[in-house]
Amino acid sequence: MSGNKARLDAISAVINYKPISEPLNFAETPTKELFASNVFSTAVMKQRLPKPVYKSIMATIQKGAPLDTSTADVVASAMKDWAIEKGATHYAHVFYPLTGLTAEKHDSFLSPNGDGLAIAEFSGEQLIQGEPDGSSFPTGGIRPTFEARGYTAWDVTSLAYILENPNGTTLCIPTAFVSWTGEALDKKTPLLRAMKALNTQAQRILKLFGDTDGSLVTSTAGPEQEYFLIDRNFFLARPDLMTAGRTLFGAAPAKGQEFDDHYFGAIPERVLACMMETERELYKLGVPVKTRHNEVAPGQYEVAPVFENANVATDHQQLLMIMLKRVAEKYGMVCITHEKPFAGVNGSGKHVNFSFGSASLGNLLEPGDTPHENARFLVFCAAVIRAVDKYAPLLRSVIAHAGNDHRLGANEAPPAIISIFLGDQLTEVFEQIKTGGAKSSKAKSTLNIGVDTLPPLPLHSGDRNRTSPFAFTGNKFEFRAVGSSQSIATPLMALNTIVAESIDAIATRLEADTAGDAGKLDDAIQKLLQEIMVEHGRIIFNGDGYSEAWHKEAEARGLPNLRTSVEAIPEFGSEAAVELFKKYNVLSPREVESRVEVKLEQYAMAIAVEAKLTAKIAKTMIFPAAIRYQSELATTCANLKAVGYSFDTNTLDRVTELVRCLQDSTVELDMALAHEGGSVFEEAEHALKKLIPAMNVVREYADTLETIVADDLWPLPSYQEMLFIK
Ligand code: ADP
Ligand code: MG
Repeated sequence: MSGNKARLDAISAVINYKPISEPLNFAETPTKELFASNVFSTAVMKQRLPKPVYKSIMATIQKGAPLDTSTADVVASAMKDWAIEKGATHYAHVFYPLTGLTAEKHDSFLSPNGDGLAIAEFSGEQLIQGEPDGSSFPTGGIRPTFEARGYTAWDVTSLAYILENPNGTTLCIPTAFVSWTGEALDKKTPLLRAMKALNTQAQRILKLFGDTDGSLVTSTAGPEQEYFLIDRNFFLARPDLMTAGRTLFGAAPAKGQEFDDHYFGAIPERVLACMMETERELYKLGVPVKTRHNEVAPGQYEVAPVFENANVATDHQQLLMIMLKRVAEKYGMVCITHEKPFAGVNGSGKHVNFSFGSASLGNLLEPGDTPHENARFLVFCAAVIRAVDKYAPLLRSVIAHAGNDHRLGANEAPPAIISIFLGDQLTEVFEQIKTGGAKSSKAKSTLNIGVDTLPPLPLHSGDRNRTSPFAFTGNKFEFRAVGSSQSIATPLMALNTIVAESIDAIATRLEADTAGDAGKLDDAIQKLLQEIMVEHGRIIFNGDGYSEAWHKEAEARGLPNLRTSVEAIPEFGSEAAVELFKKYNVLSPREVESRVEVKLEQYAMAIAVEAKLTAKIAKTMIFPAAIRYQSELATTCANLKAVGYSFDTNTLDRVTELVRCLQDSTVELDMALAHEGGSVFEEAEHALKKLIPAMNVVREYADTLETIVADDLWPLPSYQEMLFIK
């Protein structure tokens, strides 16, 4: 392997890499003991809180009962003692602003006591409420800076934990972030509201089935995270990866992923060491990581936890991304969560497995063993089908951002068309319901709700079709179109809300049709499911989502195909979406509007950064390398000519032509960048229609040059190096 000095240094650092710490000793501290050791868990609370206080806090966690201040004071004091015993000096309210990242504000436990000394203090009020100066977070115009302060409010349902750092530890308290006028400035608040809406509506269905025992219906989520690991030396030699999170240049390597030899292959030693330490850190925080494996692309991996309550899973997912990045650095690597870090190589997604259930009834999307359970399952399953069809544009909008555009709508899974994969068996069941309305004529193929049992549905059947953006996988739906870098809060918020709306509509109908007579329920369900399938069955598609035929078919079915973020993001603010969020008190029209604005702004900014980087790298790294080579070639030609050789100048001609094109296209890009700013939507549109095409042209010439210019002159680590040297 050759290359210029920076690249050779990187390669030598990779070769000479030595682990910086002792190997982890899982025999000394078994993972079972480690698990949740840094969490102020219910077990710790039970141990440390007076019984009535423990009972009261548990009522808040499990049933949503209000939290009184005297309870909060006692909890805060116990939490502080526990944290200080674990070496904590500070506490932090952790919140999740609209950037999709995690934010924390740290405060010391110490307060002066008036004698020139200090005492450790932490009151219920400090636990419950904080006031970060979050004025610089995007709010989409909700909160002008003169009234900048929002406050953070403890989310009792997500447990407090201790985050370790080499120089001390911090007590972290998951919180919601809201403005003084009560508007949500974050991603957690709407999710909590949506989960509440789902519970309220689901209870009505359970009541019809006589299945009420008061236990909450909660949404569950299991997010599978895909990511890349590359050596940090390469990363630092790539300004594009460092600043934009993805490579803006890079010719395809001679060997890519076509052999599939990386997929589920043996995990390289350093990578495995890094994964194990990441997992250990996550265990301590009570994040139940379960599986790890290589993904399709070289250098790509996946990690998945066991599912949890959607709100907790969301907080844990944020921690997982933080921990992946933090630990990777310790091992001399960088974890890249961008959806498409390398062109021509598989991108990364985050499959969000979604379901809902209650402590007493279990998973409500699990087909049961009895006709009663099956009928209930079919009702909830139909609710999801109806929801996804009715609100497909909204679902598309919550996964729309600059990074994910490289997957959705491009020639990569899953497509931008939202559809549901149900699997053959379940599709067959719903088909029977659909055609079986007139029981007399089609009695043979009719499945009688409440009488017949379902054929056994294969678990994981959905995995046979990886091209679907939304797949039923035996007892849950898997939303596969979510991007690897994004917070799962908003996708889950949307899912909870649209399913709540569907369940509401279904419950209203069934309540009217049965009029309190449980004996009429099965017939009413049969009729209603049939209607739902007639109206919404078009969303079901079990075939190849990548195929051109599907694009045509989807169009014929009237399914929206929103290829880019600029088309998709405004759907979050559509009339239907605004109405929906308002009706279920998930987001006010103003909160919706602010989110659309922030998303468009983030899209425009992300592309603008990429465009500026493209111009800069083209001018300051690639152009100089190209003209050096050009000059070398020219000198050789002149020398050859001087000694009387006849020769052709093909390579020199080609390089000269490419250098000219590179220069011209860079000028074009600069011109596109220099435009007058407009509204956020205009900016986003400009990014899509002007900046991206201009960037693509520059890249094309640069990548061609990479295949011609002498390797020792090429300044950027190659795809080959980044993806294959581990
Ligand atoms: P697969 O490998 O087929 O995708 P897994 O069984 O490994 O399926 O599950 C993938 C993810 O789905 C895991 O995070 C798992 O915990 C999660 N999951 C399983 N059941 C549920 C459920 N009821 N609700 C939400 N997520 C679930
Ligand atoms: Mg999966």
